[in-house]
Amino acid sequence: MRRLIIGGNWKMNRGTPAETKEMLKKLIPSVKKITTVDIVIAPPFTALLYAVDIVKKSNIKIGAQNMYFEEKGAFTGEISPNFLKDIGVNYIILGHSERRNIFKESDELVNQKLKKALSMNLNPIVCIGEHLEERKAGKTKQIIQNQIDKTFNDLTKEGILKTVIAYEPIWAIGTGKTATPEQAEEIHIFIREMVASKYDKETADLVRIQYGGSIKPTNANELFEKENIDGGLVGGASLQADSLFEIIKAADETTK
Ligand code: PEP
Repeated sequence: MRRLIIGGNWKMNRGTPAETKEMLKKLIPSVKKITTVDIVIAPPFTALLYAVDIVKKSNIKIGAQNMYFEEKGAFTGEISPNFLKDIGVNYIILGHSERRNIFKESDELVNQKLKKALSMNLNPIVCIGEHLEERKAGKTKQIIQNQIDKTFNDLTKEGILKTVIAYEPIWAIGTGKTATPEQAEEIHIFIREMVASKYDKETADLVRIQYGGSIKPTNANELFEKENIDGGLVGGASLQADSLFEIIKAADETTK
């Protein structure tokens, strides 16, 4: 019922023209026969134009790692959604924990960006997740509830349906510590319940919820087999075509 989606977030780890070309030229032929999974690669801004051109005739879409909520103006160092749309970018990662923690992006700011992305028909992937101390203190659901209330505030049903929610426990990002499939599934069910109470059951059943946090070829399958996990947002393992392909294959083998 829900199409799985795998996103590769290169962060600031790869993205020279040579690296982008090498990775995508390897990935394109290997994913050619994948028809059941949406595949998104998010390189740094400077590689976007190049990446869009390389994947043009493939089943890979390109995403940006961030954007601003204004289209134009005196916002030095920011990127307009217009520029992204104009060059053929399809997806936008918003509210990644690194943006929230290092660059102090608030739920309110992410909400403004999200509404802007939707108004421009860009596909947002919006990240939420708790810190380790919050999990240890038994506050995970409270944190997630608060993030959902604020980050997804004032979104129409069409808006939430176009949005991919990425549950990314912060303690699992780049740490090698993956949430167990049961831990992830529990929060994905909770998120779906929240969507049901804000909208309705049908909307909750249709919204896509990815997991993110140290996904690797060795743990992808058990995560994607869970009923409420609709693919993943992958950092480290998305930097090599081989490992990302293994993860995409694991998603493809899981029918939803
Ligand atoms: C991420 O950056 O969204 C992520 C999940 O990273 P990693 O897979 O490296 O934990």
